[in-house]
Amino acid sequence: MSDLYAVFGNPIAHSKSPAIHAAFAAATGQDLVYEARLAPLDDFAGALAAFIRQGGKGANVTVPFKEAACRLANSLTERAARAGAVNTLSFAGGEIVGDNTDGAGLVSDITRNLAVSLAGKRVLLLGAGGAARGVIAPILAEGPACLDIANRTAKRAAELAAAFSDLAPLCAGSFADFSGLSYDVVVNATSASLAGAGLPLPAGLFAPDSLAYDMMYGKGETPFLQLARAQGAARCADGLGMLVEQAAEAFFVWRGVRPATGAVLAGLHDQLAA
Ligand code: NDP
Repeated sequence: MSDLYAVFGNPIAHSKSPAIHAAFAAATGQDLVYEARLAPLDDFAGALAAFIRQGGKGANVTVPFKEAACRLANSLTERAARAGAVNTLSFAGGEIVGDNTDGAGLVSDITRNLAVSLAGKRVLLLGAGGAARGVIAPILAEGPACLDIANRTAKRAAELAAAFSDLAPLCAGSFADFSGLSYDVVVNATSASLAGAGLPLPAGLFAPDSLAYDMMYGKGETPFLQLARAQGAARCADGLGMLVEQAAEAFFVWRGVRPATGAVLAGLHDQLAA
């Protein structure tokens, strides 16, 4: 019988993860089934327990259960503990191990797919929610010249900077606090684009050769990327590559095999462009 995996979320019908993992399994010859499962908002733990009883070997976790998954895990990888959120669970010997592959996914997409090195670069992270928290340590591991954090609620940015102050001194503030500064890479980890909202960014934020990266993806350019282009960002990328790369990292965690991602990413880009 094929090994069973699933992604849990609410809502979940839109998830691209089953198609991505099916493509990885076919390309690597791994015998597995990967499903999308809708968990009740008030009983993620119950849905997960039923899946484990059914023989599930591992699961991805998406909105809004990443923090709950972190609490349910018996042990956490270092990157999941740092992120305070789990998007990848492995089940073996009655244990639930929590991991977080989102940060690795973002860094792979920027450095490999987009061929933009983060080493020595000035990086600005917009947002101070779960997604922002998950990518800070992986970005710092690339050796940027600086990593600053701007958020609508400045206090949350300051709390995030304090939580990672043992790794590097991070400047934090409101969007307006970064007026007069410019960056080589600006990553939007806010959910503003989800609501179709733009961000009140000061002019001059994007250095001439800069990359603007929105973790959000969908049909058409997001409001953040439209603004970035208008303000002079040289390159714009959405989060589709991050989605595929975090999936590849989870596949590697579960199966010990690293799938190639290029064809899967190109296929998803074509689907969204159609
Ligand atoms: P959270 O709800 O944890 O955080 C939301 C963040 O967005 C906060 O910093 C919040 O600011 C800010 N925000 C929300 N609305 C606005 C607005 N109108 N103007 C300015 N700031 C706003 O969300 P997550 O961190 O979990 O997710 C953030 C984004 O990342 C989502 O779009 C999600 O889809 C994307 N994502 C993409 C992934 C991928 O694989 N491509 C993986 C994970 C996430 P405040 O603190 O002031 O409320």
